[in-house]
Amino acid sequence: MEYPDRFQVIVIGGGHAGTEAALAAARSGARTLLLTHNIETLGQMSCNPAIGGIGKSHLVKEIDALGGAMAEATDLAGIQFRVLNSRKGPAVRATRAQADRVRYKAAIRGMLENQANLTLFQQGVDDLIVDNDTVTGVVTQTGIRFMADTVVLCTGTFLGGIIHVGLDHHAGGRAGDPPANALAQRLRALPFRVDRLKTGTPPRIDAKSVDFSRLEPQPGDTPLPVMSYLGSRDQHPRQVECHIAHTNERTHEIIFANLDRSPMYSGVIEGVGPRYCPSIEDKVHRFADKTSHQVFIEPEGLETHELYPNGISTSLPFDVQLQVVRSIVGLENAHITRPGYAIEYDFFDPRDLRHSLETKFIHNLYFAGQINGTTGYEEAGAQGLLAGLNAARRARGEDAWWPRRDEAYLGVLVDDLISMGTQEPYRMFTSRAEYRLLLREDNADLRLTEAGRRLGLVDDRRWQAFSTKRERIERENERLRTTWIQPGTPGAERLAEKLGQPLAREYNLMDLLKRPELGYADVASLKGEPVDDEPVAEQVQIEAKYAGYIARQQDEIERLKRHEATPLPEGLDYAKVEGLSHEIRQKLASARPATLGQAGRLSGVTPAAVSILLIHLKKRR
Ligand code: FAD
Repeated sequence: MEYPDRFQVIVIGGGHAGTEAALAAARSGARTLLLTHNIETLGQMSCNPAIGGIGKSHLVKEIDALGGAMAEATDLAGIQFRVLNSRKGPAVRATRAQADRVRYKAAIRGMLENQANLTLFQQGVDDLIVDNDTVTGVVTQTGIRFMADTVVLCTGTFLGGIIHVGLDHHAGGRAGDPPANALAQRLRALPFRVDRLKTGTPPRIDAKSVDFSRLEPQPGDTPLPVMSYLGSRDQHPRQVECHIAHTNERTHEIIFANLDRSPMYSGVIEGVGPRYCPSIEDKVHRFADKTSHQVFIEPEGLETHELYPNGISTSLPFDVQLQVVRSIVGLENAHITRPGYAIEYDFFDPRDLRHSLETKFIHNLYFAGQINGTTGYEEAGAQGLLAGLNAARRARGEDAWWPRRDEAYLGVLVDDLISMGTQEPYRMFTSRAEYRLLLREDNADLRLTEAGRRLGLVDDRRWQAFSTKRERIERENERLRTTWIQPGTPGAERLAEKLGQPLAREYNLMDLLKRPELGYADVASLKGEPVDDEPVAEQVQIEAKYAGYIARQQDEIERLKRHEATPLPEGLDYAKVEGLSHEIRQKLASARPATLGQAGRLSGVTPAAVSILLIHLKKRR
């Protein structure tokens, strides 16, 4: 049958990409349908119940700034919060939260159910309706046809999914869920480039069988970090400790002795696994000289005894998994509640996508999440938001939107994927961004909320909170710039002590804040009232301390923009341009772009490479 209502956007898949896609499309005003296998698994965390971490929290905060769900759900579900790299510079600082997986799912489901313009429907999708290279709808398992202007595919690890435990394998989308094989076949018949990737998860352990006295406790941070710009500490549920355990020589012996029973090492698995989140057998094999690896023992929630041993993802047979776990100090009597496994799945070459995440071959069809070769909830959520928004905009006849590389990690993510593709599961790192100091997790709201508001993604509550914060920052910056203190001003001696020398002349508070020895708390109350608002004070301090570097990065961006039209000589020998990688030299030599702007838009030619070209041109003159 054909469903009587027509939609503007259909999203397939209720994982992290799908839920953000559906919310963004609906928030921006499009009549949206979210179709998924099972409403109970909306927002399910397939692997570790943790959100954020290095490079990833930047994406979570960008999703948040654009009105998305992930950060707010994390504040409602987080049972341990930490700021990683807290002693390093603000560019690489990253918030990470261990979440209660049941609370996280409930928070996401609540947001979906309460979202205006959004309809949920539980059923697998088996087919796409394609008419003249344009998608016009989908067909479910039971033959219901839903028609729409646009379709966003967010099917995760489910396409052609095969689950491996040792040398046994069976079809599955993730443990306990069926694969999406009919849809996988349909997609393979379309002209997309398709390949296989794999990922894995560790066995889960019953906390009642663990001797915590032999593990090292790892508490969360105080004061408690918050993930969403609208969040507060009071929203967090009860906080708990994680623990640290270690593998040892015995663990590694067991793994080595059983490598022939690993589907990865016996050649049963063809897909490439995540380099930065390797299985324990991979780690032991690759770093054979290391006698121990850390294992973070993380709770899965407040109302469960299940633990997630982060660091021993594995596809070894169950009997070996049990030996591996029990060889670890503190886990000698551990009971495994669920075996670890690896999963292989289809992904589509993201070079077949546009910046909007629309596919190049089928109009009005968008791909987001693991289907594009990424790994991680955050990467999936960010793509989902962008694809859902652009699908809605297409349905309304509006132009696509995406942030540039110098505006957001989301811009870096999409640009990397569509220009370079990926040979292994792609995850975000701060090192992937050229303008790290501009793209911090603390300023994602300042970078993106205004665009989000214009795009219809940011509601009044968020806009109000953001506008107040921005105004306060501006007002405080102005106060610091115009408040002067003299050598005799009360409190100046305290400053002199910190500076190791007396104040030689009159300074304004902003100049003092730029001094490395002084913080906001030292200078702000010297004269007048400091702001009683942590994020505002933090922003004022970071902008002051890094003003020089930030200005330099901004200049570089402006410089590259100005040189868009600079011509590249026809006979330029790229082999002689020092500092370019071999791959980029080849690309430029074969494409022979006419201008620097054209060079920068070639797949894989980074802004850093364009800078090198610019310097080369200047030297030639
Ligand atoms: P998913 O979260 O997989 O969601 C897909 C959704 O689509 C599901 O709701 C599914 O039911 C639905 N669906 C699929 N096909 C259909 C269909 N035909 N019709 C209707 N609905 C459909 N990430 C890491 O960063 N580190 C890790 O160590 C890690 N390990 C992992 C281990 C395992 C075993 C798995 C399965 C995943 C792992 N991940 C890991 C990846 C992480 O779970 C994903 O990156 C993330 O969940 C991707 O989000 P997504 O929305 O693209 O897909």
